[in-house]
Amino acid sequence: MKQQNLLTCQDIAHEGEVIQGFCLNLECQDSRSQFCLQCGFDPKKHTNCKKDLKGFGQIQSFITKFNQYILDLTIQLINPIHQSKQNMKNSQNNWII
Ligand SMILES: [Zn+2]
Ligand SMILES: [Zn+2]
Repeated sequence: MKQQNLLTCQDIAHEGEVIQGFCLNLECQDSRSQFCLQCGFDPKKHTNCKKDLKGFGQIQSFITKFNQYILDLTIQLINPIHQSKQNMKNSQNNWII
């Protein structure tokens, strides 16, 4: 049995074409979300979601941005708690004085 290469396009007409990335559109009409350069240029493929075809590099930076967002959010959530603890310490100090 021939081993399927996941990094080349599964479209028979695009044999040997290297996969460039994935379609991130959830309503994509194409059964295969990975696309090669030819899929990207084919007007019959990803008709309504050409803008959602993301290369591996773009997906990587998308994930990095997303992680950064989560990190920012976490810091924003933790900061007020941190600050109120500081305030409590300060007011305790005030009591001692
Ligand atoms: Zn293709
Ligand atoms: Zn698509």
